[in-house]
Amino acid sequence: MSKLFSIFGNPVSHSRSPLMHNAVFKNLNYKACYTRTLLEDDTKLKETFFALGLDGANVTVPHKESAYEACDEIRGFAKKIGVVNTLINENGKLIGYNTDADGFMYAIDEFKDIKNILVLGAGGTAKALVQKFLEEGLHVSILNRSEARLSYFEKLNCECYTWENFVLKQYDLVVNTTSAGLKDENFPAPKEIIETILNNTRYAADAIYGKITPFLQLAKEKQLTCKDGSDMLLGQGVLANELFCNFELDKEAIKTQMQKSFLY
Ligand code: NDP
Repeated sequence: MSKLFSIFGNPVSHSRSPLMHNAVFKNLNYKACYTRTLLEDDTKLKETFFALGLDGANVTVPHKESAYEACDEIRGFAKKIGVVNTLINENGKLIGYNTDADGFMYAIDEFKDIKNILVLGAGGTAKALVQKFLEEGLHVSILNRSEARLSYFEKLNCECYTWENFVLKQYDLVVNTTSAGLKDENFPAPKEIIETILNNTRYAADAIYGKITPFLQLAKEKQLTCKDGSDMLLGQGVLANELFCNFELDKEAIKTQMQKSFLY
């Protein structure tokens, strides 16, 4: 029987996940189909998942933390961070995983000698990446536009700042995990702050993919080595697909098909 998967988000029309997963299913002869679901009310996530008869799903902005709450069981790295980006229907139970952090580590593999990282944003993606960075022994600072979400990172002993009290340091890598630039042309913080940050870092990465955000454009203009979120997307997608297909497909073959889908 054919399996059905989807991605939940708001917005969701920009998501490349359907292309990536469908390329794998089609070219590796796996009987499955992957769609998009615009979800406005996150309290309806579980109900919608089962009403659609899904076997699994991905979750994107802004529903990753509510997806965690909706699960019957959480496995692996997602347990540590309270953020879920992959859902599996296991005999009528909703099981939650997180593949974003490992996806990002795959993406920055080519960046060398990273010790000090500045993370812009304090949402679900930031939680996943920061937990991973700390496990790797890296020093992490966070800059977010508002204070509420910073308390989580203060408990992890990260240096936490809002735009108003930001103290600039020297960084090896700055990562934009905010959604600024996704639907608009905003910088993740006032342009003057971003400018000084980019003058004091070696590498820049954006979690947003499919467009050059103002943040990434400025990093390019400053001739920093930088990348958008495509490789992160690829990394998290490969790991999610393995879960969807119950590890029946070869990982390298999944990666190859997903990479090809980026050319469509
Ligand atoms: P969340 O909604 O959990 O968090 C968003 C964060 O961005 C919050 O800290 C919020 O600040 C901040 N923010 C939102 N708008 C602005 C703005 N205009 N200016 C400054 N800060 C802003 O989102 P996620 O963590 O789930 O996702 C964040 C981004 O990462 C999205 O663009 C998503 O597409 C991308 N992403 C890409 C992946 C990939 O594979 N490439 C994987 C995962 C995510 P506040 O606390 O003040 O509200």
